[in-house]
Amino acid sequence: MPGERLQGAATGAPSITLSFDNGPEPEVTPGVLEVLRRRGLPATFFVLGHKLATHRALAERAHAEGHWIGNHTWSHAGPLGDAPGGAAAAEAEIARTQELIGDLSHEHRLFRPQGGGGALGPHLLSQAALDLLTHGAFTCVLWNAVPGDFRDPDGWVDRALDMCRGPEPVVLVLHDLPNNAMRHLDRFLGRLADQGARFTQEFPDSCVPLRRGIATGPVTNYVNSRAGASA
Ligand SMILES: [Zn+2]
Repeated sequence: MPGERLQGAATGAPSITLSFDNGPEPEVTPGVLEVLRRRGLPATFFVLGHKLATHRALAERAHAEGHWIGNHTWSHAGPLGDAPGGAAAAEAEIARTQELIGDLSHEHRLFRPQGGGGALGPHLLSQAALDLLTHGAFTCVLWNAVPGDFRDPDGWVDRALDMCRGPEPVVLVLHDLPNNAMRHLDRFLGRLADQGARFTQEFPDSCVPLRRGIATGPVTNYVNSRAGASA
C-alpha cells in the first residue's frame, strides 16, 4: 500500500511535516483531504478566520479525519510585526480567529504567523501579538520550507522535493488556495515516497519558538518591538 510505504521509516531521510495554509477553500480543500486520506497522511491546516466563518464544514471534516486545525490570523492582511494597531490588532487577528476555531482547535492552540512570502524575521509578530500568544498559552509554529506554490502553481513541486532531501526535519508550507497548484499534490507525495520520505504530524522544536505559551527558543527574534508595543 502506498500509505505504508510513505509512513515507513527510511534511514537517513528527513522527517517531513505537512501543513496547508490560508484555507479552507471549497474548490481545493476537499481534494487535498482526499489525497491525504488515500495516502494515510495527517497534516495541519492553518486556517484564516474569515474563511472559516464561511466554510466551517471543511475544517470540521479535516478535524474529523485526523488533521490538526491551527490559527493563521483572521484576515491575513499583512505580517503582524509590520502592522500598527498593537493589542487591538492582535485581538482582532488572533483571539477572534481562535474563538471561532473553538473546539476544532488542537489542544496546544497552534498559531502560525503570516510570513509575507515565507521569510522569517521580526516582521512576524508585534510585541502585543507575542503577549497575547504567551498569556493565551498558544504554540507558535514556524516553518523551514516554503516552495512557493502560491506564486508558482507548477514549478513548486521540484523546489519542494529539493527542500525535502534533509537531513534536517522539514516543516513544509503549502496552501489550499484555488490556483491549481494542489493538482500536483498527489504526484508530489508519490515522488517524496520515492525519495524515502518519512512523515510526522508533529512539529520539530526548531520550528516552534513558543509552546503552550512558554518560550522554547529565541521567540523575540520574531518580534518587531516597535510595532504594537503599547496596548
Ligand atoms: Zn499565509
